[in-house]
Amino acid sequence: MTPFFKSFLAVTGLLVAGFIIGTALFGCAADPAADPAHNLPHRDPAASWDQSNLKLTDHGCPSAVFVAPQGELVECQYAQAAPPAAAELKMFPTMDAAALYVVTKIYERSHYYEYGGVIVKGPKGYMLSLPRTQHHGMDVNFDDDPESFDFPIVATYHVHPCLSNAFPSVFSPQDLASSRVTKTPGYVLDECTGDLHYWAPGDGYLDANALIKMGVNPIALMEGVQLSPGKIVGHITVDGTVLN
Ligand SMILES: [Zn+2]
Repeated sequence: MTPFFKSFLAVTGLLVAGFIIGTALFGCAADPAADPAHNLPHRDPAASWDQSNLKLTDHGCPSAVFVAPQGELVECQYAQAAPPAAAELKMFPTMDAAALYVVTKIYERSHYYEYGGVIVKGPKGYMLSLPRTQHHGMDVNFDDDPESFDFPIVATYHVHPCLSNAFPSVFSPQDLASSRVTKTPGYVLDECTGDLHYWAPGDGYLDANALIKMGVNPIALMEGVQLSPGKIVGHITVDGTVLN
C-alpha cells in the first residue's frame, strides 16, 4: 500500500467521523436551509438570463436580441411583433394567389424567422391558415392536421429567411419529405430573391452536378440529399439583405 493511499484512507476516516458527529449535533449536516446562502434566490445556469447564455442556446434568430419587456423573457426583439394580420376569411381564386398574398404579408412583418401554414380549398375559393412561427431562422412547425380545418388542405406555405449558411432558394429535404407525406404541394418564399417557389410530390429534384454547383457539402451528397427549387410561380420585392 502506498503512503498516498494510506493518508487518503486516514483523511476519509476523519471526514466520515466528522460527518457522523455533525449529523448527530445538527440533525442533517447537509440541509441547505441551514446555510443562509442557500436561501437567496438563484437561477439554474441553464435558464440564466445572461445574454451570452441565451444566445448560446438559441437555434435561430440570426440577429437575435434578447429582451425581457415587463419582466417577461422573450428570445428576440421581434418576438413581440404581432403575427401577420388574420387572413383566414380572405378568399383567393387560385392557390398561387393565396400563397403570394401570405408570403407578402409575412415579409412585411419579419425577415428573420420562418413562418408557415396551410392553404385550404373552400366552396368559394382558397383560404389561408394564420402563419405560425417558433421564431427560428431555419425551421418552422405549423398545424397540418386535416382535422384542424373545415376544408381540405391543398398546399402548405412557408418562407426561408435570407441566410448565408442555408439554401433559401430550394426546398429542403424536410420540405420535400413533408410534401410527400401530406401529399400536398408546397410554396416557399426565398427572402434573398423574393421568388415564390412551388414544388409538388413527383416534381423531382436537383442532380448531383447541380448540387455541387450550389456548394452542397460532399457528405450530404454522399448521403443522397435531395433539394429542389421547384418552379417559380410568383415574385415579391425584397431588400435582399443577407442576415448573417
Ligand atoms: Zn423550408
